[in-house]
Amino acid sequence: MPLTPDVRQSIDDLPHDPGKAIEIGPRIWWVGCHLDGDAFQCHAYLIEDGDQSVLIDPGSPLTFAETRRKIESILPFASIRYFICHHPDPDIVSAISLFDHEVTRPDACIVTHWRAAALLKHYGWKIPFWLVERNHWTLQLESRSLKFVFTPYLHFPGAFCSFDESSGILFSSDLFGGFTDGFNLVASDEGYFEALRPFHEHYLPSREILQHGLLAIQRHPVRMIAPQHGSIIPEPLVGFMTEKLKTLDCGLLASARDDVDVLRLSRLNQVLRDIAQAVILYRDLSDILSAILAIMRRILPEIRGIELWAIGSDGERLRFSELSHFRPTVAHPPAQVDRLLGREAAQWDNLHPEGYTLFETDAGTHALIVPFRDERSGKVRGMAIIDFTCKPDLTVEIEAIVRQATQPLQITIERELLYQSLERDRKRYYQQSIRDALTGLFTRLYMDDATERLIAMHARNPDASFGLAIFDIDHFKSINDRCGHLGGDEVLRRIAEVIASESRVVDIPVRFGGEEFAVFLASGGPDEALAFAERVRQAVGRLQFEGRLDGTRVTISAGLAQHRPGEALDSLIERADYALYRAKREGRDRTITATDS
Ligand code: GH3
Ligand code: MG
Ligand code: MG
Repeated sequence: MPLTPDVRQSIDDLPHDPGKAIEIGPRIWWVGCHLDGDAFQCHAYLIEDGDQSVLIDPGSPLTFAETRRKIESILPFASIRYFICHHPDPDIVSAISLFDHEVTRPDACIVTHWRAAALLKHYGWKIPFWLVERNHWTLQLESRSLKFVFTPYLHFPGAFCSFDESSGILFSSDLFGGFTDGFNLVASDEGYFEALRPFHEHYLPSREILQHGLLAIQRHPVRMIAPQHGSIIPEPLVGFMTEKLKTLDCGLLASARDDVDVLRLSRLNQVLRDIAQAVILYRDLSDILSAILAIMRRILPEIRGIELWAIGSDGERLRFSELSHFRPTVAHPPAQVDRLLGREAAQWDNLHPEGYTLFETDAGTHALIVPFRDERSGKVRGMAIIDFTCKPDLTVEIEAIVRQATQPLQITIERELLYQSLERDRKRYYQQSIRDALTGLFTRLYMDDATERLIAMHARNPDASFGLAIFDIDHFKSINDRCGHLGGDEVLRRIAEVIASESRVVDIPVRFGGEEFAVFLASGGPDEALAFAERVRQAVGRLQFEGRLDGTRVTISAGLAQHRPGEALDSLIERADYALYRAKREGRDRTITATDS
């Protein structure tokens, strides 16, 4: 990484003799101690401020003698009033036990957060605590004021940083700290980020929490960062290091098991992020699964393919395979799959405590079975079968990837099955809503929809007129009275059958009311409509009934109207209804066409 002239200048401006106190800002001194072979270089800092001097993160018995020597080169140790402890780690605070009895100023105090004080009180020191959160996160000194920036969980729940407004120096404690082999008081270039990386990836809980702390810090005009470990970050590098830290994967220890290889954990973490991203980004099952497979292959090129199995909502076995673009198909599962699907997950766990099993397929290849558990039923509801080109060496890495990919795969499959059953329900409810239960003819709900299309077509094409026939059973009440309501229902069903069989597929036969039917005749003029209505009327007249309806004769009357261009549905119905009314009035068992059709 090339050095910018600014960085070079800023570094050269600082003296480099670690044997002495080093003034890093106006009356601000590095009084730390370099320990050979210690990755944690402990940096203590002294703010010389007359009667109000401050020692920041005093150190440990290993470092304190030298820190004290450096302090005494500037001011008498006994004159220090404030001892800031950013958190309770021994490398920061354990030196206090050495000097607790020496501090004679009655107003001397340990500046910390209540969460740290709650632990530190167990040392039994006599120096009292001064809590940052009780003092508006500000410490007013003689010539300057220190602002405390709360950075919880980085890496202690009550961790905070101290910002000196007058110099722009941030005393950042563990944040911006690094593991360094040698001693380098000031970071020389952007390459120092590589020292920050492992420290933050190991110690800090998550990227989100780190970003929260960094944003809090960025509200202050920071010109230099003085951390407790590693190197001081000079002004030209402050922005770069802060932004770069925001992109870091933290909390990697959460994915570690036996080993803590940071690079490996970092790679795994990236895989997990990519997988989560794929699940969020894509909606289509096939896209999600293809993306997850591609991500897994990137790390494990020996993966030949993935097949998924699940139990469908009717108990059917569904296969999702790459060949069919992960579209589910009902299939006969192979023996290994069949044995496992629907079984108690606990039984499987007893046999395979690691959560998966490796087996040799009929084709002689090796595959890994990872079951999906249904938490509610405790049963195996599905599984992933990962096929390898050669017998895989199940390293910690492969195991971790398999474990990490399984949950998103399971969620994706479950989501797909849910969509499918919702879609099936939707279709069923739709059918129920458009078909009358007694007669099987369309309902008025469907009629409204379908006639809208007929009317629109007629508006576009004047030749696409359509007719409407409304039928009403004659003296139906007396049939009900004589043969009972069930008998009446039977008559309705039989007449509906006649209407349905006389209609063409393009026509729309509707149960219009209790004992009224309407048929929209999708094409043809008044003559065809009349012929149709007459066919229906005569066929109904010929119906023979048995049982409780034995000997019953049924007749119907019909009213016809032809749709006029631009006419509303209500108006068309009104005209057909009026024709029907006339048919009734003129003696029933007849068809009348609206005169102006
Ligand atoms: P009109 O010749 O003037 O049409 O005489 P009507 O008796 O058929 O006339 P009205 O419209 O007064 O009577 C219709 C009867 O149809 C009244 C009602 O009890 C009956 N009804 C309506 N829906 C059903 C049904 O779903 N099942 C049965 N069995 N009867 C029904
Ligand atoms: Mg009626
Ligand atoms: Mg009637």
